[in-house]
Formats: sequence, C-alpha cells, structure tokens
Amino acid sequence: MSSLSVRVVGVGDAFTALHYNACLLIESASTRLLIDAPPALARALRESAVEPSERVGLDDIDHVLITHLHGDHVGGLEQLLFYRRFVTGRKAALYAIPEVLAGLWETRLRGGMDTLLDAPGGVARTLSLEDYAEVRPLGDGATAIGDLAIEWRPTIHHIPTSAVRVRSGALTLGYSADTAFDPTLVAWLSRADLFFHETNLGIHTPLASLVGLDESTRARMRLIHYPDFHDVATSPIVCAREGEVYRL
Ligand SMILES: [Zn+2]
Repeated sequence: MSSLSVRVVGVGDAFTALHYNACLLIESASTRLLIDAPPALARALRESAVEPSERVGLDDIDHVLITHLHGDHVGGLEQLLFYRRFVTGRKAALYAIPEVLAGLWETRLRGGMDTLLDAPGGVARTLSLEDYAEVRPLGDGATAIGDLAIEWRPTIHHIPTSAVRVRSGALTLGYSADTAFDPTLVAWLSRADLFFHETNLGIHTPLASLVGLDESTRARMRLIHYPDFHDVATSPIVCAREGEVYRL
C-alpha cells in the first residue's frame, strides 16, 4: 500500500528571524526526498523531529530537489554535500530543472567546493558537482525518485523556479515554491490531496489573492514562506508549522 507524508522542516521567508527557511521533507514507504536545502539545514532537520527517535540527519537524506537558487532555498546544500563527502562518504542524488542545475555549481557552490587538498600543503584537486552528488535533471513529464513520481512546472519568480507535485500511488502532494500569484499554478497544485503555497511581499503571492480562492482549494492549502509579521493564530488560511507531519 502506498503512503506519503510530509514533515515541515522550515516555514520562514528569506528574512525570517523566527523560523527556519521554507523546507519540506517528504517520505513514502521507501523514499525520503528533501525539497530545498536552506541554511542551518542539519539543525532545522533535527529540530523538526518532535521525538528523538524521529530525528533525521544529513546522512538520512539520499534525495534532494532544489526549486531555485535563492540562498534561503539552497544555502544549506554545501553543508549536506560536504558532510556526505567527508563524514559518511555517501553521495546524495540531486534533482532540479536544467536551468537551476546550470547555475547551481557555477554561481552558488563552486567558490567553496571546487578545490580540495589531499593533505595540509599537499596536492590540490579540482572537483565538479558530479564529484559530490548524483546529478539528475528533471525532464519533461514525470521523474521517478524511488517510489515517488515528480512533476514540475515553472513559476513566476525572479529566476528560474519550479513548483512540484510529488505522487506516491494515488496520493499527491504539491508545493508552489516561490511564485507571484498564478491562478493556473494554483489550479495545477490543487489537483493534489494537499499542497503548500507560499505567500510574501514582492515577486511572491499576496495573501489576499489566496484568500480569494474557492473554499475547497483553500481547504487543501497550507501557507508556507510567510513573513514573520504574519499572524499564524488568526491566519485566514491554515499555516504550516515547523515540526508538523502531514500524513496523506
Ligand atoms: Zn526565491
């Protein structure tokens, strides 16, 4: 029987002083997939577990999907990749749309990761992203990640960004990633059993636009990437909270 759950690792926006940056951990019967890798990733993962037995560490994340290259979504990837190389020696698989992968190494990771010494004062070795991860572009149509099927579509944002739907059997979860309000994206996401939608200022989605959606769509929506001033207690749409686990 298929199962699908999502743990809310972070709910904050790029400027949050209250939360970790937006991040979701999806688990099916056999697959664990991290959606985005924000700064302080190891601590965010640890604190997302209510019980010590549910703790997930950097070596437990074999699959990582990056929605886009803003620092609040990708700033913890170096930590994960270095940990896997130096501490456990196990490569993770890294998924993103080709436009994101194209910039990931050159514009976000290379400066800190392309040179390693084999010993103090020793030989410097030049590395590429493939030395750190199994790099897997998201193509058109569905991409299989273990027993999960991933679909994506572009959002309206400053830089190339992908929203995703994650399916296991008959169960589907959606995530808007960062996007300006896009009714066609909301319609695509609302075919999921549950979906997370961002809200914020700027090239993001105003809360009022989401409040104006029909009730059945809002009922399956959870807010994420909300600003610190957003009042969770009185929110007109239910807010995701760090440490929550939704079991579909
Ligand atoms: Zn962004």
